[in-house]
Amino acid sequence: MQEKVKQYKDYLRKADAFDHAVGVLYYDFETVMPKGAADHFSKTMGTLSEEMYKMETSPELKALVTELYEHRDELDEITRREVEEHREQIARIECIPMEEYVAYSELESMASAVWHQAKVDNDYESFKPYLQKIVDYQRKFALYYAPDKEPYDTLLDQYEKGLNKETLDAFFGKLREAFKPLVEKTSAARDSIRDDFLSRNCPVEQQRKLSDYIMDVMCIDKNYCILGEVEHPFTTEFSKHDVRITTHYHEDAVASSFYSVVHEGGHALYELHTGDELMGSPLAEGTSMGVHESQSRLFENIIGRSRGFITAVFPKIKELFPEQMEDVTAEEFYRAVNKSVPSLIRTEADELTYCFHVMIRYELEKRLIAGSLTVDELPAEWNRLYKEYLGVDVPNDTKGVLQDSHWSGGMIGYFPSYAIGSAYGAQIVASMKKDFDVDKAVSEGNLRPVIDWLTDKIWKYGKLKKPAEVILNACGAEFDPQFYIDYITEKMNSIYGF
Ligand SMILES: [Zn+2]
Repeated sequence: MQEKVKQYKDYLRKADAFDHAVGVLYYDFETVMPKGAADHFSKTMGTLSEEMYKMETSPELKALVTELYEHRDELDEITRREVEEHREQIARIECIPMEEYVAYSELESMASAVWHQAKVDNDYESFKPYLQKIVDYQRKFALYYAPDKEPYDTLLDQYEKGLNKETLDAFFGKLREAFKPLVEKTSAARDSIRDDFLSRNCPVEQQRKLSDYIMDVMCIDKNYCILGEVEHPFTTEFSKHDVRITTHYHEDAVASSFYSVVHEGGHALYELHTGDELMGSPLAEGTSMGVHESQSRLFENIIGRSRGFITAVFPKIKELFPEQMEDVTAEEFYRAVNKSVPSLIRTEADELTYCFHVMIRYELEKRLIAGSLTVDELPAEWNRLYKEYLGVDVPNDTKGVLQDSHWSGGMIGYFPSYAIGSAYGAQIVASMKKDFDVDKAVSEGNLRPVIDWLTDKIWKYGKLKKPAEVILNACGAEFDPQFYIDYITEKMNSIYGF
């Protein structure tokens, strides 16, 4: 058995090196690669995916993983979980014929490049055929893996184990019922909160200094994490010693980059604090996208948009932007970044209206995969739902159906993670508050106790615990969306004085 384990660990080391190389290429593509290189890049990704496919589906590896799985009771905890996860990963890949796997990988890279340009040009038509192919492939792959299951449920399950349409329909139904009247009330009261100063011109150079400061406040170790600049912020990691976060600066929207850094910083903290014993293991990463988004959105909103946090960081904001913030108090800044106004762009949305942006995408992708909505009908349906759910008119596809990168990267079934994650976050912080005075620490600008608590309850485990186990471990109870509903309702009531 020991020899088998050693062979398996050797394989994992090789796979980790491969992932590292592919990840760096992807990071390069997203940050500095010239547009014209897209074709070459997609061919490279195709070739590498073929190698990856051969490695992951080789009879030797399968025999090894199967044997270890059969003897899993004799394995240490880390190896057992590695084998369990790996077995599932192999099953997801080997059901797809290699030519289709490679063709899809090339398509995905090209589709990302085409989408970037389509968004700039407000040209949905150029992206449409790529989206059509991605939807077709995703449906087909889901059916290869689980022929008797609804394809969209299979896609959801990849991002959040056990999640399905039934659970999500109930979850979103509950949120809609609780938040719809609140959206109407806050919209009517929008003039009671000033936010004029958030669109004042703040030079990028000064915003960079603010990002640097925020990373320090979040105790992000810059030896192991760097901040890059891109059009669409994201986080990627190659190990707990190499985490890359990104942001985008808009001179007339200082809060936009500020909260991007806090959001991506939340993702980074999770990765930076996986246990040392998991180093080099595929388990050394966040357990699911829902739990990952719970950490980023927890920092962005529950911590980052709290009165305490604003009180702590506002003196620095005033120091960096003395003219722009001259007539602004910390309390006014706090209220402005929490102002709820139905809007067009998901990533800029306030906490209350945010989940409606997710619901719209959920409804649409569910129907795309089911075949009850076509890519031709998609933009008009997008616009119709924005009017129905949020009361806003979408002026063009750049600010509508083309705004997010996810579908172009084949990530269908991901969006619900944001809403589920937001709801996890509320429950996690409620549990944290039982253990220490969170508001007091945050208002002193001291996030260390928050970081230590999350490391202990969630981060150190990486993928060693499954999402539901993580929530149970952190909250002492199963997931309950009521915490989120109560948190949002109380916050809005207190800000607007309802
Ligand atoms: Zn995120």
